[in-house]
Amino acid sequence: MSMSLTIVADIIGYIYLRGDYTINTIFISLRPADIDPPHLGGRHLTMSTGTAETSEKRVATDEQDEPESALETARRQLEHAAAHLEVDPGVIERLKHPTTVHRVAVPLERDDGSVEVFTGYRAQHDDVRGPYKGGLRFHPEVSEEECVGLSMWMTWKCAVMDLPFGGGKGGVVVDPKDLTDGEHERLTRRFAEELRKFVGPKKDIPAPDMGTDAQTMAWFMDAYSMQEGETIPGVVTGKPPVVGGSEGREEAPGRSVAIITREAAEYYDYALDGLSVAVQGYGSVGANAARLLDDWGADVVAVSDSGGAVHDPTGLDTHAIPSFAEQPNAVTDYGVETDGAELLDDGNDILELDVDVVIPAAVGNVITVDNANDVRADIVVEGANGPTTFAADEILAERGVHVVPDILANAGGVTVSYFEWLQDINRRTWTLEQVNSELESEMLSAWNAVRDEVEARDITWRDAAYVVALDRIAEAKSVRGLWP
Ligand code: NAD
Repeated sequence: MSMSLTIVADIIGYIYLRGDYTINTIFISLRPADIDPPHLGGRHLTMSTGTAETSEKRVATDEQDEPESALETARRQLEHAAAHLEVDPGVIERLKHPTTVHRVAVPLERDDGSVEVFTGYRAQHDDVRGPYKGGLRFHPEVSEEECVGLSMWMTWKCAVMDLPFGGGKGGVVVDPKDLTDGEHERLTRRFAEELRKFVGPKKDIPAPDMGTDAQTMAWFMDAYSMQEGETIPGVVTGKPPVVGGSEGREEAPGRSVAIITREAAEYYDYALDGLSVAVQGYGSVGANAARLLDDWGADVVAVSDSGGAVHDPTGLDTHAIPSFAEQPNAVTDYGVETDGAELLDDGNDILELDVDVVIPAAVGNVITVDNANDVRADIVVEGANGPTTFAADEILAERGVHVVPDILANAGGVTVSYFEWLQDINRRTWTLEQVNSELESEMLSAWNAVRDEVEARDITWRDAAYVVALDRIAEAKSVRGLWP
């Protein structure tokens, strides 16, 4: 945002905040020119170009670029992939910027009667293929730049899955651990009201993300519906099934990670039976992926959470380990109590185990220039969003490690969100079997489209996924044209 606009916004905010909270609404709409270019500062990137030392699959690097913001990574990935496509540079330039970023002030009456004002964002990146779609985070590190970067990823993710959506992302700068249930509900309802003009089943459809869950979406939907005068379940996805949520939504990102791992293993001639897999993060994505792969015959030999990592070369009983939602940081307890299982000294070592597949499914920026040379798996399937930095990705590519990107692997979440939206607007309910069968077929279509590009262009899985997505977006932009 330009300095002058920031100051104007701050002044308007100050005037409002001194006034009546009940009428308080601060809103500014930021056009592309108001978004600063990614802050690269003095941290100039020098990518390794193939001249690096590659003995024992190690690639030397003088990178000093870590860690990257989601926006930096998203823009670099876009430029990298665009080089493989003959797309109008104007389209690429437009895609580097969000259509709009809404910034709102969200006043909250705390349980003790005091009033605190939080900042909320909703970045809307591109809607050429349909309404914006993406999560809402409640997290202290939510920022405008992060929302923009994540909204870009949502655009590619929806396009690679061929869903009729564009990308959005938003959130409130708040630590949800500091909120009581009542405060969480009031903050959500007020945030929904501040965003009400900009969201809706045909405009922008939020979903849960870090710090928000199905209950948060139910409150959001209720607040929106109350103000609109009718029940509109399709305004958000990820709701409890009793108010229009879909069966299978919670497990969907993990299920898609498992499906894509299965396909990648088969592609590279690994038998699923006995495939050795390590999973970082035993939350919604990691635990569901690990348990499915275990059920399908793979040996999940190591899993971790923020408390530590457990390793058993003969395979863990994944169903016996509680997920993060079931019992936070239970992995270490399992490691201590189970014969044959050992705790790793450093939980991060899980990424460096000698396994066939490693699945980073915890947080972003975990495979960096510092450890990319130490990854010993042949295949990395990204369960988390953005676990591999741009520079680390180059190192892995040079070393011949196959990285299947997040925008394909964990896209089961947004895909079942799409099924939920279809069920909501059609007032129909699908069975779990129907959801899982449709998800399987959507994941295979996307996998096949990306695999075709890998083979036709001899490029990485990430570049191929971007090529598929960009091609669809560029074609839609070309057919629709630039108005006026
Ligand atoms: P979650 O909160 O359910 O689980 C996160 C897990 O990671 C927990 O077990 C936590 O202990 C662990 N963890 C955190 N930091 C860690 C670290 N440094 N090392 C090891 N473990 C660590 O979260 P989730 O919903 O499973 O999401 C995980 C990732 O997947 C995030 O990047 C998220 O954006 C992405 N994702 C989630 C969904 C979804 O719908 N849940 C969809 C797509 C992508």
